Amino acid sequence: MIKSIYLDYNATVPILNEVKKTLLDCMDLGPINASSVHFYGREGKNILQIARSNIANLINTKSENIIFTSSATEAINLILGSFQNIVVSSIEHLAVLNSSKTDLLIPVDINGIVDLDYLEQLLKKISKDKKQILISVMWVNNETGVIQPIKDVINISKKYGCFVHCDAAQALGKIKIDFDELGADFLTISGHKIGAPSGIGALVYNNNFNLLPQILGGGQENGMRAGTENILGIIGFGEAARIISELPEITHSKVKFLRDYISNKIITLRPETVFLGDKVERVSNTILIALPNTPGDLALMKLDLANFSVSSGSACSSGKISKSHVVTAMGYDQLASNSIRISFPPNDFILETERLITIQELDRLAECWSNI
Ligand code: PLP
Repeated sequence: MIKSIYLDYNATVPILNEVKKTLLDCMDLGPINASSVHFYGREGKNILQIARSNIANLINTKSENIIFTSSATEAINLILGSFQNIVVSSIEHLAVLNSSKTDLLIPVDINGIVDLDYLEQLLKKISKDKKQILISVMWVNNETGVIQPIKDVINISKKYGCFVHCDAAQALGKIKIDFDELGADFLTISGHKIGAPSGIGALVYNNNFNLLPQILGGGQENGMRAGTENILGIIGFGEAARIISELPEITHSKVKFLRDYISNKIITLRPETVFLGDKVERVSNTILIALPNTPGDLALMKLDLANFSVSSGSACSSGKISKSHVVTAMGYDQLASNSIRISFPPNDFILETERLITIQELDRLAECWSNI
């Protein structure tokens, strides 16, 4: 069977080979429930601690600041569910938009960057009346790859005494994260974006606010998230984090070469292609493109038939393509149903451990795009 060429790494990264090996070894460890008081329970606690400290190393914080959840989505719900007054950017992931239930949205400019002046004016207005305001802004947008001025967002928010959550699901493994230096109160991350299995995420916090647990039961995870821990998921997340944190640095030159190659080829063969968010600082692995008058579902189908697995900028869990709220927020309403995201591995290390993507394949992809 011909396998499709996978270029949808922002959706999920295949499980890293080293992570697979560790998981297989750990399956023989025995019946582990970290809450048990006997030998196997102690083993479990030890495993949790190792994973926690590997993740803490990757994002430079203390391991006790990390709460394991089933996903970044759950971690986001736990944070946002604990606040009454929430301001979010208009390009947040649906996990944030749908759990915040707020109409206080920070707009973005045509490049998909949050409007800092708007945030400041809004906080000036509302911070006198409202207490305990949470600002939630993502670090890297999942559709465009655009890097947000998160430090500025935090500085402005802190000036008005607000709490800050940063959704770092698309930043982890792509850019250096230093939680302690960042100054945010909460950060959320997801294992499957860096080569761990899906179904494991984490909330990182600095303990200045009492979160309202959403899942009640036993006192696991410091009483913040009940339920027997997903030990294999946690091992996988910890191992993927260890591998990345042991790299001398996270590099992208090879990923960027592929991204720029396909971009140039596409512009040459189909000059009317619109590139979204390509004029500003963004991660090296992502492009979001659209053809005027060509619906994304049609483009996606043609690319799929030609054996390329890419994504519509706006696919939701049902697989149905709706209008992208991100593209709409950037002011490209006409293109909001047309966008297609091509995403390469998050960094050079993962690119090299994966099946190599060849120039011939990228030529074929550009050719296929030009014929849509
Ligand atoms: N936030 C962003 C920016 C994402 O891209 C994703 C997943 O695509 C999530 C949150 C949700 O992560 P999870 O799949 O762990 O729930």
